[in-house]
Amino acid sequence: MSIQNIKGMRDHLPRAMLLRQYIVSTIQQISERYGFEPLQSPVVEYAELLEGKLGDDEKLIYRFADQGGRQLALRYDQTVPLARVVAQYAGQLALPWRRYAYGPSYRGERPARGRYREFYQFDADIVGSASPLADAEIVALLSDSLAALGFPDFVTLLNHRQLIGGIARVSGLDEAAAGSVYRAIDKFDKIGADGVREELLRSGVVPTAAAAILTLVQTEGEAGAVLNELAGHLASDERACAAIANLRAIIAALENLGISPARYTVAPRLARGLSYYTGLVFEAITPHWPEGSLLGGGRYDELIGQFAGRPIPTVGLAFGIDRLHDVMEQLNLGPRSNGTAVAFVTIFGPEQSAASMALAQALRKAGINTLLSLEPQISLGKQLKEADRRGARYALLLGPDELARGEVVLKDLRSGEQHSLERAQLIEVIRASA
Ligand code: AMP
Repeated sequence: MSIQNIKGMRDHLPRAMLLRQYIVSTIQQISERYGFEPLQSPVVEYAELLEGKLGDDEKLIYRFADQGGRQLALRYDQTVPLARVVAQYAGQLALPWRRYAYGPSYRGERPARGRYREFYQFDADIVGSASPLADAEIVALLSDSLAALGFPDFVTLLNHRQLIGGIARVSGLDEAAAGSVYRAIDKFDKIGADGVREELLRSGVVPTAAAAILTLVQTEGEAGAVLNELAGHLASDERACAAIANLRAIIAALENLGISPARYTVAPRLARGLSYYTGLVFEAITPHWPEGSLLGGGRYDELIGQFAGRPIPTVGLAFGIDRLHDVMEQLNLGPRSNGTAVAFVTIFGPEQSAASMALAQALRKAGINTLLSLEPQISLGKQLKEADRRGARYALLLGPDELARGEVVLKDLRSGEQHSLERAQLIEVIRASA
């Protein structure tokens, strides 16, 4: 048997985990600041639940039968499970409901950097509101989160499902052909404008229509300017006009929420693969990660209704924790901590070991993360090395002289400085530097 993890599924050793936990706790804090509440649901669902919601991606679902022959699946995302929960607990959840959820999702994709088969998502959704304020709150939440994580220059690309549809219709295509336009545009970032043109021609779109579509989806610039430009071309299409009005309302709300216009734009080429989106769609990108989006989301007003039997408009997003992790590692963002301990209590010798143990407990009671040496028989030098290796900021030394004086030597492992201090002072100094 080979000792090997499964391809596309990763182990995260402590250093990586510390960064991941920092990412998750930062996003969680901001989600709670926006009033979102936690939800957890199982990783396994009935396969039937996930079917018919994911479009082409349905083939990526991990399926299996359990001992009783039930057809089960690992969740593909946390959105379809949310829809189930809302339908199942309808009486207990007051709408609109802001919920966040964090956990693994599974997709049988071809693994690559930033693309895994097991990956973690942090979702935030507002269930039961059609208001553009809900869309804006989600975009504001993601903007605040990426800024808090230290991303220097991310941009959220905004689009609306009915914009691509409108572009296809005003270019002379019918509703059925609009689907293939949508699928071709979805590959824009992978295959470029020429690739999309070829794909459009292959699916039967005439060259003049393909050219018109390509020009319109590549409109770029400041959000309001892009919308004005599109409004001119799409004036004859009622649904596209409604989409433009909706995007304008969302952008006005973003302005009122104080989100810098440098943080978002309208990108009509953004399609987003999942078939359940109905309105706003968005992705956050950074030039430091050309491989893909940091996160994505949108409005899906019909998905929950499929389970609940009545329309429940919803907008939300999923932060891809693995992608954020990979990019932050590459950009050297986030805390550079080697461990969890702040203090390391050494043991001078067998006679001082009881006092060292008591000191470690006193520090822990004072809320200071503290490691206790486990090897009183090894030299102090080696104990100090161990303290350094574990990432502790301070080593505490308690020899016979210090014990007699009721003091402790505090050694700053960063600067190398050391002082003999009284206990009460010691805790203050450590706390002040934390
Ligand atoms: P989606 O559920 O497809 O809308 O994806 C939302 C976010 O989850 C993406 O923007 C990625 O950050 C992340 N994500 C999706 N698929 C993967 C994957 N296979 N591996 C790692 N992260 C992923």
